[in-house]
Amino acid sequence: MSTAHGDRFSGRSAIVTGGGSGIGAALTSALTAVGCDVWCADIDLEAAKRVVAGLPGPGRGIAARLDVTDSAAVQQLVTDVVSDAGTLDFMFNNAGIVIGGETQLLSLQQWNRIIDINLRGVVHGVHAAYPHMIAAGSGHIVNTASAAGLMASGLLTSYSTTKFAVAGLSNALRAEAARYGVRVTVVCPSAVETPILDSEGVGDFPGRRFYLDAEKTRRAYSPDRLATDILAAVARDAPWIVVPRRTHIGWLIGRIAPGFLHRRMTKYIQQQLGRPRTAS
Ligand code: NAD
Repeated sequence: MSTAHGDRFSGRSAIVTGGGSGIGAALTSALTAVGCDVWCADIDLEAAKRVVAGLPGPGRGIAARLDVTDSAAVQQLVTDVVSDAGTLDFMFNNAGIVIGGETQLLSLQQWNRIIDINLRGVVHGVHAAYPHMIAAGSGHIVNTASAAGLMASGLLTSYSTTKFAVAGLSNALRAEAARYGVRVTVVCPSAVETPILDSEGVGDFPGRRFYLDAEKTRRAYSPDRLATDILAAVARDAPWIVVPRRTHIGWLIGRIAPGFLHRRMTKYIQQQLGRPRTAS
């Protein structure tokens, strides 16, 4: 991390939701390393505590229990941070889950759960943090969407639904927030090496293999590298972060030729699942 980036974060305050694992843990670590005080907020308090326990600073790491589906709790955490730090400079709405598999197998309960965490969780973060940032005349909201929020991903249909919404929310708000001096960035990686890749799916969902084969790679992106990318992108106020490079190129191709991406995805799902079993 260069000094220029460090200057952008040193002495500032941040909330990272889903900070107890994966990308959120890497963000917490990268931010405290450049002198930012980070409230590492996770539904799993013990995980958040483990993350902050190992941090050398110079920024403070503060573990907090937070369920992003609880709007009052999100509001309370933002209020607490503002009263402790004087301001909230960065709101990383990062907590999320995935449920892979064929859409007809998803229960409504599963649909509601992923919408509550991945979309409403981000809405709660924006709703709580944005007015403080407007009042301060500065601040940066960083929402973790996904490459599946830019390119429709079959077998991740519920996930893609929520992540398209987060990408749309982020870009729309960015345009609106600029006049208040508030910035918005959306993070859109493809597979990153975190426990989410081993999340349970429904039916015959191939799991981790699905994510890696799609990119013709055996190794997912490193969360620490992504955290470095995110801080650099935030420092230069980039609207999007789409990584790795091949995903960025795929996205650009998809914008020019959406039919190509659609055909590729359809073929890929056939390869992964085979033809549907029909009654004989
Ligand atoms: P992860 O499973 O390692 O971490 C997610 C964290 O969110 C966990 O610590 C979990 O306890 C927490 N969490 C879950 N529900 C919560 C809730 N209701 N309130 C607060 N915290 C909650 O996964 P990750 O890969 O680090 O995911 C972080 C974000 O990155 C997610 O939004 C995910 O969709 C997105 N993302 C991940 C990948 C990937 O391949 N890993 C790719 C693109 C986008």
